[in-house]
Amino acid sequence: MHRGSCLCGAVTFELHGEPSMVSHCHCSMCRKGHGAAFATYLSIEKAKVRFLSGEDQLTSYNSSSSILRKFCRTCGSNVEWSGHPDYPDWVSIPLALLDTPLVPEAIEQFYAEARVPWCAFT
Ligand SMILES: [Zn+2]
Ligand SMILES: [Zn+2]
Repeated sequence: MHRGSCLCGAVTFELHGEPSMVSHCHCSMCRKGHGAAFATYLSIEKAKVRFLSGEDQLTSYNSSSSILRKFCRTCGSNVEWSGHPDYPDWVSIPLALLDTPLVPEAIEQFYAEARVPWCAFT
């Protein structure tokens, strides 16, 4: 089982199951939301995510009509986004929140055409 937490520790959660996908998202919304060249997410069914603490500390922002991004109101850590029209029962969580080791076998690239020129990939 994997466990994760936000920067301040108020939000903690467990994953009851393995993520089905890990991806780098290079879109401008993830870039700005994370303040980073790209964001790396694990994707998992919502039903497999259990918050142990701090779910009431989450605040949210609709970055588009369907996509809802949630983050810790104290420390600002991105905690999840959901609302993909094709995957309404799924949630994406930043891989970097995990406190347990998870090394994905493969990482998908989304919006690779939007990637910043100052971060090289091999
Ligand atoms: Zn926090
Ligand atoms: Zn994105």
